[in-house]
Amino acid sequence: MRQLFTYQVAEEHQAPTIKVGERVVVPFGSRKVIGIVIEQDAECNFDVSKVKSIATRLNDNFNLSQALVSFLQLCAHYYHHPVGDVFQQSLPILLRKIENITLTPPMVWHAQTLDDERQALVDKLAKKASKQFALYQAIASHSGISWVELRTLGYSKAQLNALHDKALIIEDEQVTSAFAWQEDTLNQDNKLRLSSEQAVIVSAIDASLAKFSCHLIDGVTGSGKTEVYLQSMENVLANNQQVLVIVPEIGLTPQTLNRFEQRFNVPIALHHSGLNDKERLATWLSAQQGSAAIVIGTRSAIFTPLHRLGLIIIDEEHDSSLKQQDSFRYHGRDMAILRARQLDIPIVLGSATPSFETLQNALTGKYNYHQLLNRAGKSNKAKIELVDMNQQQVEFGLSGTLKHEIKQTLNRGEQVLLFLNRRGYAPAINCQECHWLAECQRCDKPFTLHQKVGLLICHHCGDQLRVPPQCPGCGSVRIAPLGQGTEQLESRLEEIFPDNSIVRIDRDSTRKKGELAKLLQEISDKKHQLLVGTQMLAKGHHFPDVTLVAVLDVDGALFSFDFRASEQMAQLLIQVAGRAGRASKPGKVLVQSNYVDHPLLQDLVHNGYHHFAHQALTERKQALLPPFTFQALLRADANYPSYPEKFLRSLTMQPLDGCEFAGPVPAAMEKKAGKFRYHLIIQAKSRKDLHRAILQLLSLISNNELQNKVRWSLDIDPIDLNW
Ligand code: ADP
Ligand code: ZN
Ligand code: ZN
Repeated sequence: MRQLFTYQVAEEHQAPTIKVGERVVVPFGSRKVIGIVIEQDAECNFDVSKVKSIATRLNDNFNLSQALVSFLQLCAHYYHHPVGDVFQQSLPILLRKIENITLTPPMVWHAQTLDDERQALVDKLAKKASKQFALYQAIASHSGISWVELRTLGYSKAQLNALHDKALIIEDEQVTSAFAWQEDTLNQDNKLRLSSEQAVIVSAIDASLAKFSCHLIDGVTGSGKTEVYLQSMENVLANNQQVLVIVPEIGLTPQTLNRFEQRFNVPIALHHSGLNDKERLATWLSAQQGSAAIVIGTRSAIFTPLHRLGLIIIDEEHDSSLKQQDSFRYHGRDMAILRARQLDIPIVLGSATPSFETLQNALTGKYNYHQLLNRAGKSNKAKIELVDMNQQQVEFGLSGTLKHEIKQTLNRGEQVLLFLNRRGYAPAINCQECHWLAECQRCDKPFTLHQKVGLLICHHCGDQLRVPPQCPGCGSVRIAPLGQGTEQLESRLEEIFPDNSIVRIDRDSTRKKGELAKLLQEISDKKHQLLVGTQMLAKGHHFPDVTLVAVLDVDGALFSFDFRASEQMAQLLIQVAGRAGRASKPGKVLVQSNYVDHPLLQDLVHNGYHHFAHQALTERKQALLPPFTFQALLRADANYPSYPEKFLRSLTMQPLDGCEFAGPVPAAMEKKAGKFRYHLIIQAKSRKDLHRAILQLLSLISNNELQNKVRWSLDIDPIDLNW
């Protein structure tokens, strides 16, 4: 529902004056629900006798601030999304429940004072139990750290209990006097001396505090961006202000969190998908009350109510996980910029492969553009080489060159990372006699074979079935996998390199809670020499002993119709390459392709990401594509193909000022889970034109006879046209 609802405030509820942001209980139909006051007026255009009254004012600790309410309204306005749903999606679930909320006071762990006996225990741990010792140190270096933080860092309850049983640590109520964290916030021990490049950036950010500005730190992986974030935060924290840090996937990269924990001895609140409802609310509250100095979280952390926010940092600003891809389709980075503007504070974006949008804003001087050209410390930049698959004997997707390089790397006692962005055993199976292909009926796409569990799974809708013993078409038993996924690569590698241990990291192998942390630990303990993985392995991990990275199949992205596919391919390639040779050992990156002469690949490999990006930006400018124009994508689907098409077409009958339509066209995945899907792109020269056009379209839709026969959704600034 797009509209708001009006209630009266009965006499007995009028004192103290009701405020914007208050949570109230209101009658809604036959139910009672939570409402949030977002506007008040002395007069009303409705028949007052019909306007219902607020039932209860909750008046607890959880009212929203005026600033948060207006920020959420801004977001709703920007995305033309129903304002109620924006509140719904951005608030912790418990705030939308009528039941009384009782939060137990936040608890934190402390180290006990060391006497001789305890010192002896700690010394013993240092020698015998490295994990427990690391946990002990994490706790001892803090004046109170929560179980949520420790858990996110990858420690287990068993380790915690072990330390507790030895009486080395104790749990206590967190002292939540707001802003008591100025003293001793900084652990000087591990603060690094900035390079002059870094120092310039830190002082530019320092000089811009307390007013809006946007900084891009453009620097290769390992160039010291995180160190710049850390040192930029010092002045903000010393000023009694809070810092919000957004990272793509915190659970995947506990190392980053660890750096923050080690540097600042301040209360840090976390916000990510690994928290339960109460933990989420606790984060929200500690942010609002100011007892948390730093909030670190994934995209939706942008909605936490930090009322003394002084700086926002977005790490890996190009990462597509910052964009929510269903219902309220917001971009965490863009909303963060909106928020910084609203609060008049600086925001820092960091990436080794900035998105073209951001890069364009930096190049035109809209953002402050900072580059870190060299890797910090001693390590060298990894070298990327193309391997022409047409010129090679290929066995199980591995070229002769690659196999040779893997052997050499293993002989030196170093690790190898093999990147293949396809999970499962094979992306299809077919009959070798009649060429029958196992396809999902609901999506018209091949089933992926998952051999270990003996299932065919549709990666688009999740449907699954047992692998048939014979071909349903001709009865032949010669059914074979087509193509290769990570599961198959893993088992092939076991055959080729029987003396080495192989680990696979993808969504399937890390489904179990805690499994990913365990596998990552095993990698850094060098239990495995060969690392096989999808996207998950490309993100933010530090593998100092990986000196060879291979991208097995880069070709898919070269021929996509989505103009963003090549941008994403380039980012992924550079990010994967960034995993190699982080320490002083030089790294090598091999990229296998059947199209090594493709101009995109050539440019990227020989001239680097920035040359590639400049080139692509020039092309986009000529083709009038974003970021030089502004797009919205209207998606529609229904059980019958004619409905969504007709629906979208009817909207294109009237021209819209300053806008052009592309479509309607069938979506790249025309059928998914039994629904037929169509796209209509609206493209405008200015954001204003786009905004006005969408308002017109929405009013057309509300009068459209098909609006209830199709399911439609609106995506402003879409980043993925494939679905
Ligand atoms: P990024 O965030 O760009 O990947 P990091 O800040 O993580 O880079 O730095 C990469 C490595 O270099 C880290 O191990 C870090 O400790 C080290 N490093 C960063 N800045 C410096 C510096 N000024 N002096 C020495 N080492 C540094
Ligand atoms: Zn057959
Ligand atoms: Zn399907």
